[in-house]
Amino acid sequence: MIPVTKPYLPNRERLNQFLDGIYERNWLTNNGPLAQELTSRLEEYLGVENLLLVSNGTLALQIAYRALGINEPVDGKPAEAITTPFTFIATASSLKWDGIQPVFADIDPETWCLNPASIEEAITPQTRSIVPVHVFGNACDVEAIDTIAQKHNLKVIYDASHAFGVNYKGKSLLKHGDAATLSFHATKLFHTGEGGAIIFQRKEDLERAKRMINFGITGRQTIEELGINAKMNELQAAMGLCVLDEMEANMAVRHRVWSNYERALFSLVQLQKRSDDLSYNAAYFPAVFESEPAAVKVAELLKENRILARRYFFPSLETIDFFEQTSPQPVSNDIAGRILCLPIYASLESQQQKAIIDVIKSFLATGLQR
Ligand SMILES: *Cc1c(COP(=O)(O)O)cnc(C)c1O
Repeated sequence: MIPVTKPYLPNRERLNQFLDGIYERNWLTNNGPLAQELTSRLEEYLGVENLLLVSNGTLALQIAYRALGINEPVDGKPAEAITTPFTFIATASSLKWDGIQPVFADIDPETWCLNPASIEEAITPQTRSIVPVHVFGNACDVEAIDTIAQKHNLKVIYDASHAFGVNYKGKSLLKHGDAATLSFHATKLFHTGEGGAIIFQRKEDLERAKRMINFGITGRQTIEELGINAKMNELQAAMGLCVLDEMEANMAVRHRVWSNYERALFSLVQLQKRSDDLSYNAAYFPAVFESEPAAVKVAELLKENRILARRYFFPSLETIDFFEQTSPQPVSNDIAGRILCLPIYASLESQQQKAIIDVIKSFLATGLQR
């Protein structure tokens, strides 16, 4: 079976060296030396400051919400956050889990990121924040979102889970917003097995979040505030350091895979329109087909050939009952119905990729998609 993605496994000898160190020190978690090293290496690699490692990308979002106070009720009623329905469930469910009501706004039909005009329409007196997603590593309209946030005094937390290493206008995309979060789940471009990080704009928010991820403990006998456990451990950090060492080689191969797809399919499917002046990390290859039946059929045909393409993101999140939404989000719903993410990972062989392209091309050649 060809999966849609495969976790990247770094050099085993190198990992063993880190494990030897962990055994020697007998220091397994609580801001150990490997977590500290990974923090500074990532800050340097990404070109950011105020980076905090956490145990996964969902807790990264939740800690960011709390550190910025966007969960505080407004006049006794739950705070609202405006977010996108075209994302992985965790963006919106993490809000709900923390007592914040997600309010969806629609996406742009070409960039698939939040449409700024829809954000403005969704603002109410309860709104405290905007939680946009740099979906598939594309940059949101950060300038427009910034203007809206300032005008209405809202915090902005970017779910940048897909935007590892992406630069926009010559600097890290992760520098936009009050905070940006990353996921280091095994299936992500850069990973630590499970893990994540938050990049804060301001140092004082970083310091508050540091206390929060360690139960609010600030000294041997002092607990200053409500916290939780969201620390990254040394085994995760060891994996991260090894994966980071091989990042450039991994990305080069992925770019090759990505370009092969693009060359073969650009005139046959709709690809994501990316912002100008944006670098790309080749983390995903999403393709939008003419119709939902066409997308479903292509996924079936690929499966018959033992290839897994994923309907990702599907369904559009406003359709999920527990979010209690009343407004339809027609653009998101339309794209979600017609999209497939094709297999992309460094060890995907060119023969395998050719087989995938052939299945899609021969289906589209029949004209049945109309
Ligand atoms: C992967 C992902 C998350 C969740 O991250 P975990 O590390 O799996 O908790 C959140 N948002 C988006 C957009 C993601 O792709």
